[in-house]
Amino acid sequence: MSQPNRWDKGELAKFQVASGVKGYAVDLLGGGKLVLFTEHYDPRIARETDALLQWLGTPKGFTVNLWWRDDPRRIAANEWPTARTVNGGWTYQNSNTIVVYRSEEWDRVLIHEVIHAMGWDWEMPAKPLACWKFTDADTLQPALFEAWTELYAEWLWCAWHNVPWNKQYEWQLYQAKQILARQKTTAWVEETNVFAYYVLKAVLSPHIGFLWIYGNGRTTEERYTMLCSLVQPELDKLREEARSIKPEAMSLRMTKG
Ligand SMILES: [Zn+2]
Repeated sequence: MSQPNRWDKGELAKFQVASGVKGYAVDLLGGGKLVLFTEHYDPRIARETDALLQWLGTPKGFTVNLWWRDDPRRIAANEWPTARTVNGGWTYQNSNTIVVYRSEEWDRVLIHEVIHAMGWDWEMPAKPLACWKFTDADTLQPALFEAWTELYAEWLWCAWHNVPWNKQYEWQLYQAKQILARQKTTAWVEETNVFAYYVLKAVLSPHIGFLWIYGNGRTTEERYTMLCSLVQPELDKLREEARSIKPEAMSLRMTKG
């Protein structure tokens, strides 16, 4: 996410005051800061945060607030993804502070939020393009740029962990099809960026080499042309394949782990 979301309903505060949870403020060697709320302090978390911030080149004083909560992103076969089961952090663009509130995939979320905080996001139209064939009944969240942010976060995460990109792409395709299969006959309604995070990202993914080289266009017109020509055939194919797929219980974590 790029902005605070509404899922938590006091969950973070509750975790923070739970017995056994303590706060630790750590000055990292590279100049960053970690504020960690956890039941069991593990120095490896601070070392990994320091290494990631240095690798990503964040400025001195950049602060990671990390709530080490065990809260896996699982959904049942008949369950639709929600803010509660998808998101793991937030920040503001061009800020020097990020928040990560799940231990699951905390490093992938850290990278994602650093992209927002450093202002590395790419522009994207706020509404689905006509070529993507949504109907008036479909309601999408406007932060479609999250698809780029997440795609590049996963690419960097794979580089950091030496995960082959084709393995990551397989996981993206699996999740995209599982989610499309859950929709089938009803309108697409989402309370967080489900389409951007799981479907739009997966259809941009095979074009990542093209995107690295050519960017996403200098003008709105260039962006629309590219997003239609690259996305639409992939999206049609995924929707078609999803028709014969049975939804199953799944993890919504964006890296397979
Ligand atoms: Zn985001």
